[in-house]
Amino acid sequence: MVFMKAMKLQEFGKPLQLMESDLPQVLDNNVLVKVDACGVCHSDIHLAEGYYGAREEERLVIRDRRIRLPLTLGHEIAGRIEAKGRAVSAFEVGDTVVVYPWIGCGVCRACRAGFDNLCERPNALGVYADGGYAEYVLVPDPRYVLKYDGLKPEEAGVLACSGITALHALKKARVAPDDVLAIIGAGGVGGMAIQLAKALSGATIVSLDIDDRKLEYAKSLGADFTINSSKDDIGAVMKQALGKRANAVIDFVGSTQTVENAVKILVKGGRLVVVGLFGGILKMQIPLLPILALDIVGSYTGTLTDLNEILQLTNRGVVKPVISTSFRLEEANEALAKLRSGEVKGRAVIKP
Ligand SMILES: [Zn+2]
Ligand SMILES: [Zn+2]
Repeated sequence: MVFMKAMKLQEFGKPLQLMESDLPQVLDNNVLVKVDACGVCHSDIHLAEGYYGAREEERLVIRDRRIRLPLTLGHEIAGRIEAKGRAVSAFEVGDTVVVYPWIGCGVCRACRAGFDNLCERPNALGVYADGGYAEYVLVPDPRYVLKYDGLKPEEAGVLACSGITALHALKKARVAPDDVLAIIGAGGVGGMAIQLAKALSGATIVSLDIDDRKLEYAKSLGADFTINSSKDDIGAVMKQALGKRANAVIDFVGSTQTVENAVKILVKGGRLVVVGLFGGILKMQIPLLPILALDIVGSYTGTLTDLNEILQLTNRGVVKPVISTSFRLEEANEALAKLRSGEVKGRAVIKP
């Protein structure tokens, strides 16, 4: 019998625990991936804690009955095919692959339209099914693995969440070449969005953050203009520098403050795409919504098509891979703690 190690969440709010289990059985259509790298995402922190939000009175507690513990977290997975079912002919054992983790039921309206990420009965890896904080991960169908080469595994894995989240949000922002696009948050996902917006949209890109070092990073990735929203009067700075407000804002933070800021800098008829899961309460005077004719939408991860597209863009050098800090499988709790306290440079990645 072959055993595998995994870091499992056994109880919300408690550290992950190293557990051994049998290697999963590989059925006809399954693919077993040996994990080379799995990114540690902010959403893993929320999942491990069992809620979203910083302030206790504003918390959104995770009450999803489809999440069953113990659970192996981790959804930014790159690895090699270790074994495959009889019906899998498109891949060979040893192929290097990135896993699309936002797996849906396959038959609901969203899934049939290609939006597995919006499935009503999701089976996302690392959320509803065991994910990549493990030596191996079982993928139910070969359609959810994509071959890659020319990238490090830690670079490829991150595309399955940060990468597609940035691309999907940018598509939802629907910016035109003569638009001003404001991107709130210049961390990993925001940085990816700046690169994508630069390469694909033609829009003027304004990056907002509260950290000057991150704004420098945003500039190096192609932001045309940066604003430190903790120091500057953002509306006045935009008006002075660009002579106009933003046609679209993508908020990769998702706090009360950032959403309020976004509404302040949008043009009439502008579009706000909220992506970040920081947490908070949104309060606004309702007449402003019709008077300003704002579109306020949410965006959650991305599709298989998005993953395919961003893999191509990264391969061609249009998007630079995110830098990362590595941890061993047994150090998953340390990785989560360092990410929570903001000590990680780039993306934290677990290499089992
Ligand atoms: Zn993620
Ligand atoms: Zn579905």
